Amino acid sequence: MKTYNIAALAGDGIGNEVMREAIKVLRATESKFKFKLAITEAPVGWAGIDAAGKALPDVTLALCKKSDAILFGSVGLPERDPTIPKEERPERAALLRLRKEFGLFANLRPVKLPKVLAHACPLAKERQGDGIDILVVRELTGGMYFGQPKKTEDLGGGNFRATDTMVYTTPEIERIAHVGFKAAELRRKKLTSIDKANVLENGILWREVVTRVGKNYPGVTLEHMFVDNGAMQLMLKPTQFDVMLCENMFGDILSDEAAAIGGSLGMLPSASLGTTSGEITFGLYEPAGGTAPDIAGKNLANPIAQILSSALMLRHSFGLNEAAAAIESAVQRAIESGHRTGDIFSASESGARKVGTREMGDAIAAVV
Ligand code: NAD
Repeated sequence: MKTYNIAALAGDGIGNEVMREAIKVLRATESKFKFKLAITEAPVGWAGIDAAGKALPDVTLALCKKSDAILFGSVGLPERDPTIPKEERPERAALLRLRKEFGLFANLRPVKLPKVLAHACPLAKERQGDGIDILVVRELTGGMYFGQPKKTEDLGGGNFRATDTMVYTTPEIERIAHVGFKAAELRRKKLTSIDKANVLENGILWREVVTRVGKNYPGVTLEHMFVDNGAMQLMLKPTQFDVMLCENMFGDILSDEAAAIGGSLGMLPSASLGTTSGEITFGLYEPAGGTAPDIAGKNLANPIAQILSSALMLRHSFGLNEAAAAIESAVQRAIESGHRTGDIFSASESGARKVGTREMGDAIAAVV
């Protein structure tokens, strides 16, 4: 029986509570599908600073290096973060450091709004069709956020000039396009590539390369859309999208816009993938939200984002597609049977009952 090694870094705030539920569901899946998970927990974020003086302790980084994947909670506490220099703060010193260390260039953000949670979506019901199911694939290490030159010049007299540079090379676009098309093959086989080819040189190159890569995936329908129209279409007709492929900044913005229609931050998982020896297998899997200090330690957090992140890990790092799908459908069933944490509860919904973090985890683990 194959053993997969997982570094479980719960972090701060609600991290421990939701991680515990994800591990519970993983254990239920392990016994059903007959694989072995070696899960080792280690501190990160303020938990790392308190235990070992830094947000990403050496032992934690060493554990990640010898693991097959990282299951990450969330880090950072708004009350404590400002008390230390920016570069030592958890999000920068732990999360960004891990992304860099492992070359995590592909960010996957699925947004799935089941029909029964229509009330949790800000869009009118008629725009939600049979439920929204979009995967935003965002390039994570290139584009405007990292391009050089990047500087602010003092022109004198209180006048400054700030420069950011958008740069992409063919191989950077190719590798993220492959991730997008492969994901589309496993879904509804449609890929919408987002760009600004009418204005940006980067957009022209992006469109050319994505079109060329798409020829390797004849089963996937490719369409191109300008980013401004993409932002509008997400609000008008989100059901038209399957996979949205975006460069870094466009993906940053559109994935948050898509998240807003996903019901709650507590429902949204994410995967950040990198390459090991040419194969994309290593990944960091985490909820889209943060440490939610307002509800931490009260058994109120929705564990679904963390649980679905663990399903992404089984699929993308370990190739355990059946087990991943079993977790996703268990989440769906727990929701359909009326289990609601506070963030997705509506008193007007008949048959729904408010449950805590632990009870939601139990309900999902029971039906995996
Ligand atoms: P947040 O995402 O933690 O919380 C925003 C709102 O969403 C809160 O009302 C919170 O209760 C709710 N929420 C989030 N996750 C939820 C869940 N699982 N179930 C139910 N409700 C949930 O954002 P914030 O308050 O702006 O940030 C809090 C801290 O988290 C900050 O220190 C921030 O830097 C950090 N943060 C970390 C990450 C990360 O580790 N990747 C991401 C975002 C924010």
